[in-house]
Amino acid sequence: MKSRVFSGIQPTGEPHIGNYFGAMQNYVKLGEQYGKNSIYCVVDLHAPTNPGAYDPALLAQRTLDMAVANMAVGLDPEKVIFFVQSQVPEHTQLGWLFTVITPVGELERMTQYKDKAGALESVPAGLLMYPVLQAADILLYKADTVPVGEDQVQHIELTREIARKFNQAFGETFPEPKAVLEKNALRIPGVDGQGKMSKSKGESSVLGLFEAMDSIWAKLRPAPTDPARVRRTDPGDPEKCLIGDYHKLFSDDQTLQVVYDGCRTAGIGCVDCKKMLMEGVRRELTPIQERGERLRADPDLIRDVLAQGAREAQAIAAPVMEEVRQKVGFLK
Ligand code: SF4
Repeated sequence: MKSRVFSGIQPTGEPHIGNYFGAMQNYVKLGEQYGKNSIYCVVDLHAPTNPGAYDPALLAQRTLDMAVANMAVGLDPEKVIFFVQSQVPEHTQLGWLFTVITPVGELERMTQYKDKAGALESVPAGLLMYPVLQAADILLYKADTVPVGEDQVQHIELTREIARKFNQAFGETFPEPKAVLEKNALRIPGVDGQGKMSKSKGESSVLGLFEAMDSIWAKLRPAPTDPARVRRTDPGDPEKCLIGDYHKLFSDDQTLQVVYDGCRTAGIGCVDCKKMLMEGVRRELTPIQERGERLRADPDLIRDVLAQGAREAQAIAAPVMEEVRQKVGFLK
């Protein structure tokens, strides 16, 4: 069988440039390579495992926003399969079967579970089962390639174990998928200079993909730079500066050369350097923001596109689920 890619996209509202360079660009690239064998799913069933986030209107809006964002950066639903998880009921059906064969001890070992559960007084069972549903998301399409951030690698290991367990119990059915690391995501620092860009650290850490240019500039202008550049005449090292990191994402080779040489020789000041970065930010994000605006103006079209994606996903998922039903022994 031809290789198949699956990735789940959390409906967390508007993404930031860390998501864009770390994951979304990769989806577009893999989509061009794998075509309809690349399957992307806005995983809305996972969203309510975050306690306190029970806001129906917000969930629906965020699901739509995340679909718009991915399409705005170039994900083409005509070329890939792009849909919303809860619109394909086979995800929860397979998820339940995997719950049955997965030891609780394995789930309690998951780092992400321990981190989240540790902060809660009452832990919802869904939080524990999260990686089981994730395994179902992937294996329902017999996907063998899963682009993920580093924090999800342990869950993909568990998915492999679940596939092995199912195959041993009911006969060879599922491949053991491999995680493909989204390396860029690990390296994109927050604009506050406090480690990786992440929404959980607050708005001051992130540059939103759809953020207004003046708001982006208001964050970049005071952003920390190489501490060695105390005075304008002090040379710096762009490798020790988050603005230098951002230039690698947004600037062309010629600008990068000017910035790197200018920083090391104190030929340019940090404000000039940031202004040059802003040019690249504007060039990269403006067309995405314009496409996003056009898409947002027609939510019915987005709904239709996602419904078509759900039909395409189900055309793969239903026969797999039928195979599973037969192997497990559910009455026809
Ligand atoms: Fe950072 Fe640019 Fe200043 Fe160098 S010149 S320290 S890269 S902001």
